[in-house]
Amino acid sequence: MDAINDNNRKMRGSALVDPFDRAINYLRVSVTDRCDFRCVYCMAENMTFLPKADVLTLEELDRLCSAFVDRGVRKLRLTGGEPLVRRGIMTLVSSLSRHLCTGALEELTVTTNGSQLKKYAAELANHGIKRINVSLDTLDPDKFRAITRWGDLKVVHEGIDAARAAGLAVKINAVALKGVNEDELPTLLEWAHGNGMDLTIIEVMPLGDIGEGRLDQYLPLSIVRARLAERWTLEDIDYYTGGPARYVRVAETGGRLGFITPLTHNFCESCNRVRVTCTGTLFMCLGQDDAADLRKPLRASASNDLLDAAIDEAIRRKPKGHDFIIDRRHKRPALARHMSMTGG
Ligand code: SAM
Repeated sequence: MDAINDNNRKMRGSALVDPFDRAINYLRVSVTDRCDFRCVYCMAENMTFLPKADVLTLEELDRLCSAFVDRGVRKLRLTGGEPLVRRGIMTLVSSLSRHLCTGALEELTVTTNGSQLKKYAAELANHGIKRINVSLDTLDPDKFRAITRWGDLKVVHEGIDAARAAGLAVKINAVALKGVNEDELPTLLEWAHGNGMDLTIIEVMPLGDIGEGRLDQYLPLSIVRARLAERWTLEDIDYYTGGPARYVRVAETGGRLGFITPLTHNFCESCNRVRVTCTGTLFMCLGQDDAADLRKPLRASASNDLLDAAIDEAIRRKPKGHDFIIDRRHKRPALARHMSMTGG
């Protein structure tokens, strides 16, 4: 199958390989900068969102994603903002699913806060989506409201239930927040594994001004892991989803536990991904400012020649890695843009 795909790709366009010999086969697309939550570590309460004219249409997003698929992208994740609040999102999912049917794309997936899953879970499954990530930092309704500012935990639970009923594998993503959910991480693990879901814990990253200090939120996962290891047996496994998490199996539950550690241990050397925002800006690294405008070449011509050239030029500039630091001397955001812009 891989040989057939390689041949197909050779016929379409050359694969994307960066200056450090890393093949770029994973694209994350933020389909909207808007969200129906205002998580305290992600956004300020009063965010200014982009004017609609700046945002790519669904057709343009499809064309852009498809251009990357033609260049060897095998995994496509729709994110945001909240991807499922983008009007007409299922039209995009449906049209992108053709790449699953041809075998050009190995996986089409979504990262969501779960608020709209009850409505969309069955459709996602019908369009060939097999696994989704749901972001959930606490199982306490009041804490959930405090973290998300606007969210309702009951609605998210209903969404997760709908996703599982539709046959989607659900992975829970939780950001570790000092003094907020650190005591609850064992409960989250028991709940996720008890319900047949993997759990990934994420270090908070210094992205965007959120109106409060990062140092107050930052909890190194080295500490989290050591604490979990006092209670459970964490066995290293070589399970790999193509993303940034490193996994262990929890012997007692049989479930998988992932760690995303951009601060205490980055895995930039094996980075295989790039990110596009809903305005068609390509970020070659989540943790660097350098970017390329793909909207201009996309809109300049109906053929993909200009777009392909702009993608090539950008991949040639993909940096070696990021260098996030959160400590007393580095309290300001490393980057001005919020995670909701680039997509987590
Ligand atoms: N709305 C969707 C969701 O909630 O999953 C997709 C977008 S959201 C920006 C993607 C992920 O990024 C979520 O898991 C969120 O918790 C995480 N996130 C947001 N800001 C972050 C930050 N500063 N550091 C680490 N993770 C962050």
